[in-house]
Amino acid sequence: MSTPPDPDSHDVAVIGGGAAGLSAALVLARARRRVVVIDAGRPRNAPAARMHGFLSRDGTAPADLLVAGRDEVARYGGEVIADTVTGLMSSGSGRFGVLLDSGRGLAARRLLVTTGLADRVPDIARAAERWGRDLLHCPYCHGHEVRDQPLAVLGGTPGAAQHAQLVRQWSDDVVFFPHTTRLTDEQREQLTARAIGIVEGTVAALVVEEDRLVGVRLDDGRLVSRSVVFVRPESTGNNDFVRGLGGRVDEDGWPLVDGTGRTTVDGVWVAGNASNPRAQVITAAGEGSAAAIAINNDLTDEDVRDAVVAFRGGPPV
Ligand SMILES: Cc1cc2nc3c(=O)[nH]c(=O)nc-3n(C[C@H](O)[C@H](O)[C@H](O)COP(=O)(O)OP(=O)(O)OC[C@H]3O[C@@H](n4cnc5c(N)ncnc54)[C@H](O)[C@@H]3O)c2cc1C
Repeated sequence: MSTPPDPDSHDVAVIGGGAAGLSAALVLARARRRVVVIDAGRPRNAPAARMHGFLSRDGTAPADLLVAGRDEVARYGGEVIADTVTGLMSSGSGRFGVLLDSGRGLAARRLLVTTGLADRVPDIARAAERWGRDLLHCPYCHGHEVRDQPLAVLGGTPGAAQHAQLVRQWSDDVVFFPHTTRLTDEQREQLTARAIGIVEGTVAALVVEEDRLVGVRLDDGRLVSRSVVFVRPESTGNNDFVRGLGGRVDEDGWPLVDGTGRTTVDGVWVAGNASNPRAQVITAAGEGSAAAIAINNDLTDEDVRDAVVAFRGGPPV
């Protein structure tokens, strides 16, 4: 009688079930690997009503993409667990332990970290509640939907003036609030040359009426009517796990990876926004797929090594 597989033992544990993690799990499940995805259920684009720019899925609700992804993974035998990973351990011999908030423990031969990133929403009144609605960061995601409207770009973060030049592609009516940014003469000239208004002063609040953004208030009381505000937020990758396992990061804290997302720790990959802040949903899905193929190749190499050892030590044929 054959022993049933241990339900807590997997070829690959994927930490994070957004586009990157689910895409990887689909490839691995189809490669007949025992794959488990652990997902805390807080994808970065959750506040947005629609997801744009994903070929064949443009305009889909973000949650619907993930429901479809989880179904596809499950169809091939992949397991998706709604839980939070609270700790990782390496046995040092290419085996990992994964501790979940629920108390369950899993074991895996390889890890893929797809935990996304954390955006720092501007610290002004009502910003947090408008995030992803009419306080936006990504014109490629939502610019087309707000084209030709009176738009604003909020300063105070690196690259903000450049962001205003980008947003200008979608509307002739763009105002830049430098806020805490000190504009250079060159930036001021470039903004003026493209008819981007500059409103000096510290921004105090977004003004909302009937659940709609109507303007930006400065701390001296002035109100500038706008229907959408863009910002280039700073962000931090959710990659404590990679660092905790000893993975090296660059000077900005992003994991050092090869072209497949392989980190500097044996057996550990990372994909999507956890390592690449520029990854759109389709990019994150692509990175997950590439990492999955590399992981499967790595597992196959190990399977060959193990088979040869067993073969040599086995009984003569
Ligand atoms: C408001 C907004 C709107 C956007 N709109 C678009 C758009 O229209 N088109 C587009 O292409 N891109 C859009 N983006 C970008 C998009 O959100 C990212 O490209 C995408 O989410 C990256 O996918 P990911 O899988 O790397 O991370 P995520 O989608 O963020 O998924 C990470 C997952 O990991 C989970 N997780 C984190 N830590 C743990 C843990 N310890 N244990 C278990 N699970 C964990 C999280 O809960 C989450 O479910 C938008 C972003 C924002 C902020």
